[in-house]
Amino acid sequence: MTRHVLIDQMTWTDYDERVRTENPLVILPVGSLEQHGPHTPLGTDTIIPTAISTAAAERVGAMVAPPIAYGYKSQARTGGGNHFAGTTSLDGETLIHMTRDIIKEFARHGVRNMVVMDSHYENEMFLIEGIDLALRELRADGNEDMKIVKIRYFEFTSDETMGIVFPNGFPGWPLEHAGVMTTSVMLHLHPELVQMDRVPDHPPVQYPPYDVFPADPATGSPSGVLASARGASAEKGKRLFDEYVAGISKALSVEFKLGARTPEARASTGTVRQ
Ligand SMILES: [Zn+2]
Repeated sequence: MTRHVLIDQMTWTDYDERVRTENPLVILPVGSLEQHGPHTPLGTDTIIPTAISTAAAERVGAMVAPPIAYGYKSQARTGGGNHFAGTTSLDGETLIHMTRDIIKEFARHGVRNMVVMDSHYENEMFLIEGIDLALRELRADGNEDMKIVKIRYFEFTSDETMGIVFPNGFPGWPLEHAGVMTTSVMLHLHPELVQMDRVPDHPPVQYPPYDVFPADPATGSPSGVLASARGASAEKGKRLFDEYVAGISKALSVEFKLGARTPEARASTGTVRQ
């Protein structure tokens, strides 16, 4: 039997055997189809968490489910807004029910340990609601054993790495949309998908400390970028990616009592940024 990490590349019989014999951890990446400036692709929020999930799964012996590749509506102050061409979003109710349904299906197969690996700022409370509804319904059906960890991978950036990646100051995660962090990680993973000659070079977009509905696109970022990615590099991307994979692998090993499969995973002590 070929040992795969990606569930959609397994046969149902191999998958079934692993679920029944290994009690495996299943990681569900969640992203968006959303503009990420004129220089990185629409799938950036899905490509990055899927790559991190796959690398972490290889370390700790987990499996990766196909990602939820659409997210909740992009908001002006965290993603540039939902008006851009290409940005293709779900109603909150849809994302809640997709999350709930997928968790309950894995539970039906016998999976008892899951991770929801989120990459898109606007998804968070809808994923939490989907997780909560799934657990509540599973409990009502007599399944008390499901444990789920929700991760936003960027929260695993250490203070030391923050200083190296953002030497001129950190704009904050909400403004880090198509900025230095995501662009660097994409340069590391898929340089052929990044067009650095198109990176907008402007100061971080200024928003008032409140939201206006309906949103007025004229008050936001015309490029879709909230803080310039001019300082991005593949070297920074590798540092960030490796830190995320090491820190997340360690956290999963602790939470799910998994045996890390590599010495680096056992030795890593990625500081978790709160
Ligand atoms: Zn996003």
